[in-house]
Amino acid sequence: VINDDIFLARVLNINGMKVIHFQDITPFEIYKQAKKDFVSNVSHELKTPITVLKGVIETLENEEEPEIIKTFLKKAKNRIQQMDSLINDLLILAKLESKEEKIQKKEVKLRGLINSIFEDLKDVAEEKDVKLINKVPTDSTVFVDEKKFVILMKNLIENAIKYNKKEGSVTVESTLKNSKSYISVIDTGIGIPKESLPLIFERFYRVDKSRSRNVGGTGLGLSIVKHIAEAHNGKVQVESKLGEGSKFTVILPSGE
Ligand code: ADP
Repeated sequence: VINDDIFLARVLNINGMKVIHFQDITPFEIYKQAKKDFVSNVSHELKTPITVLKGVIETLENEEEPEIIKTFLKKAKNRIQQMDSLINDLLILAKLESKEEKIQKKEVKLRGLINSIFEDLKDVAEEKDVKLINKVPTDSTVFVDEKKFVILMKNLIENAIKYNKKEGSVTVESTLKNSKSYISVIDTGIGIPKESLPLIFERFYRVDKSRSRNVGGTGLGLSIVKHIAEAHNGKVQVESKLGEGSKFTVILPSGE
């Protein structure tokens, strides 16, 4: 190991001369470590709800009080929902990474697409008393793989609702600049600490593990967002102020 880089040294015999050959295997080692971390994170994320479910079943076996049974069934349902979301997100990531599914871009009207995501998330927003505001101009279009772009926007909007304050708002706006589409999701929520900003797109990274789990996250949402943006040759930027809110901007090429 030299300066954090990892080399594989081989002694070769070339024409009677001993030659030491060094190969930089740092990227491979990083990949191996990331894979190990990923498997251990997934196992942990699945083990926690399973442990809770085991406890719930043991309690229910000897419980006759209807109210207690109801409470425990609700607990079980939440944990199953948590595992279901995790497996869904893992499947989305696996598909994106396998590249078996090609990106199929077409021109899509943005305002209508955002309205239908708002409709899907209406109940979640109402529960938190969060107002959803669509400021996308009526003639705004994006050149995207519609299915994947919906997954991207839904993740951003859902986060903007989940990490918002009561009676806060989520605004989506878009603009075209230098042949690029800028689509922003702006919330009036809790914000993200500066030191966490470079990490939030990492798989399973959460600013506050216990709070994020309470609001029902898998920790994979933003890594899916980044993946989809990059598959469109785009990127995602984030600005945030702790206690005031966050702004996530997706920047995509506006045409073919
Ligand atoms: P999760 O499923 O936990 O929401 P994500 O990958 O979507 O995972 O987000 C990673 C973390 O980034 C979240 O746990 C949360 O701490 C933070 N985060 C994401 N979006 C927002 C937001 N709009 N406001 C505040 N924090 C956010």
